[in-house]
Amino acid sequence: MDYEGLIIRPPSEAQSLLLQVTVGCSHNQCAFCGTYRQKKFKIKPAQRIEEDLREAATYGRIERVFLCDGDAIIIPHPRLIEILNMINAHLPGLDRIGSYGNVKSILKKSVEELKELRKCGLKIIYLGVETGNAEILEKIKKGATRERMIEAARRVKEAGIELSVTVILGIGGVEKSIEHAMDTAGLLSAMDPDYVGALTLMFVPGTPMYEDYMSGRFVLPDKIGFIRELYLMIAHSNFSDCYFASNHASNYVPIRARLPRQKDKVVQKLGAIVEAGDTSSMRPEYLRGL
Ligand code: SF4
Repeated sequence: MDYEGLIIRPPSEAQSLLLQVTVGCSHNQCAFCGTYRQKKFKIKPAQRIEEDLREAATYGRIERVFLCDGDAIIIPHPRLIEILNMINAHLPGLDRIGSYGNVKSILKKSVEELKELRKCGLKIIYLGVETGNAEILEKIKKGATRERMIEAARRVKEAGIELSVTVILGIGGVEKSIEHAMDTAGLLSAMDPDYVGALTLMFVPGTPMYEDYMSGRFVLPDKIGFIRELYLMIAHSNFSDCYFASNHASNYVPIRARLPRQKDKVVQKLGAIVEAGDTSSMRPEYLRGL
């Protein structure tokens, strides 16, 4: 397989074939993200993608494909359909194709186009919203507003594609901690995704946020502060049916819950940790990672 640079994928795509169809991220400006800083965004040539698919076809049955890198949904519609058709032709019997997407790229597609992508096997889109607070969104250069995030979620869901959203605990620092949690609960409720993954902010050298942290301009909440954010986000959000997880390696307390069914139980657990200020059961620092 032809991989250019660092390749990442969501934890739930661990068993998927990672097919790199773009290099880098079309946005590449988020202040906390260093993943694709060294990569200039481009769409890979169809011929190169097809060579990878020919190789993958020799591996035996593949059930899932994840489109790398940061934002395959930005690929112009006819070209993306062509890529999906090529995947299905080389890998018959596929259950699902997944991709990261950002708000701008999703909103370049109409619901009809998203439905076509769904028909061609695109069944899940992973969207990083990070926060629902407008001021923080601007500060971290997310390139998207709350309103546009809600509209992107509406289109994806209307097209029958599953939506998995990530948020970042601590992204507002100590200063905006409570606003971040409350506004994110509001945004998540309005988006009503199928999955939410909460990560805890970790700094990546070379990013603007790392510089702010090192110079003291940005102060992180303490461990209990992160859990308070998680607690508030869950306690104040309303979902129809959402799998909420904070089991990513960056987090101090792993939570896996089907909401709203298990909401009371989780809120009680997190509330007790916050109230007691007890950090003894938290993941130790040396086991955390991105
Ligand atoms: S959109 Fe995603 S991949 Fe691109 S810079 Fe922002 S966080 Fe990183």
